[in-house]
Amino acid sequence: MSEVIVIGGGVIGLAISIELRLKGIDVKILRKKELKMASLAAAGMLAPHAEKIALDSLFCLCQNSLNLYPQWIAKLKNITGKDVGYLPTGIIAPTFEVSTGGSVGGIWWDRSQLEDQQGNLAQDITGAWWYPEDGQVNNRLLIESLNQAALNLGVKIEEDIQVLFIEEKAGKVKQLITSAGEISSQCYILANGAYARELIDLPVRPVKGQMLALQMPKDSPLTRVIFGDSVYLVPRADGRLFIGATVEDVGWSDGNSADGIRLLLERAIRLYPPLRDYPIQEMWWGFRPATPDEAPLLGGYFAENLILALGHYRNGILLAPITGQLICDLLVEGKKETLIQEFSPHRFVGKG
Ligand SMILES: Cc1cc2nc3c(=O)[nH]c(=O)nc-3n(C[C@H](O)[C@H](O)[C@H](O)COP(=O)(O)OP(=O)(O)OC[C@H]3O[C@@H](n4cnc5c(N)ncnc54)[C@H](O)[C@@H]3O)c2cc1C
Repeated sequence: MSEVIVIGGGVIGLAISIELRLKGIDVKILRKKELKMASLAAAGMLAPHAEKIALDSLFCLCQNSLNLYPQWIAKLKNITGKDVGYLPTGIIAPTFEVSTGGSVGGIWWDRSQLEDQQGNLAQDITGAWWYPEDGQVNNRLLIESLNQAALNLGVKIEEDIQVLFIEEKAGKVKQLITSAGEISSQCYILANGAYARELIDLPVRPVKGQMLALQMPKDSPLTRVIFGDSVYLVPRADGRLFIGATVEDVGWSDGNSADGIRLLLERAIRLYPPLRDYPIQEMWWGFRPATPDEAPLLGGYFAENLILALGHYRNGILLAPITGQLICDLLVEGKKETLIQEFSPHRFVGKG
């Protein structure tokens, strides 16, 4: 294998391209720029514990990726010289109820322990789970840096090409029909997130998420992610507070809605009352690439030279390092780790 085309240049396509290029493979990314990228809309939380991911294999994938993050970020910094706001500073998940039982990776703080760690939370919060392993990365800086790293390494990025059709012949992808004509390669990786359904018959759908950013005052004590019930607060190092996110099964419905933003603000103010006075800085939305079991599709699909890497739903930023590694191992060394087999796209064949 010496050349690969990656369809899609979000966090997943870029992470894979970099790993392949580091193994000496010629990589070209085809990316339709006008399409909305979930990777830019995300909050950037690295939160397998706070998210309470239930499916065993998915949790394992997330945990492995979280473990890879420090070395992955260091590798990127080596290539680009840039920081990406990676803050493995833990996540606090306050609750309004009395907590019973345990929470994987979590340490329970009662109200007084919580107050020692984080002031100004709502009076009726009883305590919080503290997830020391979780954290955040500035996903917009991350995309900038991944782009730069890919270019520095010699990945070719074609910005204005949309793949319209994947043409197959005798069990192999023969070529791509694109907005710029026919393009062919030895191997193809489909990493086009929520748009996958336009090219393959598998049940991937967009799940809309609305978010907004407030400007924190200079002396704000918020430095760690606060993960509440149906809302989270992500304080960035640049003084902005990201609030997210709605989860809406409304297809490709564009725009921020008054109701979506109202809900987020109501929940956020209930959790952390001082933010009611913070100015609104920005609002946006994006589409998570969702599958029926909320786990990604990783591995070969219908043609021997086609690999899928998509459907990362709520955790694509978290899952980028492990996805890059597993797909590269599969393609370069033919390694089919047990873990990747759990996410085979074939589990949905005939259910598109
Ligand atoms: C509001 C919101 C908050 C989120 N918060 C988090 C979070 O805190 N932590 C976390 O880990 N994850 C989070 N996610 C999920 C995460 O953003 C996604 O799982 C991840 O970004 C998916 O990356 P991707 O590269 O697969 O897709 P995208 O980033 O959507 O990239 C898809 C790429 O494919 C290209 N493309 C599509 N179709 C074609 C075509 N036919 N031809 C050529 N190019 C094409 C697009 O142009 C784009 O470059 C969030 C998502 C949303 C929407």
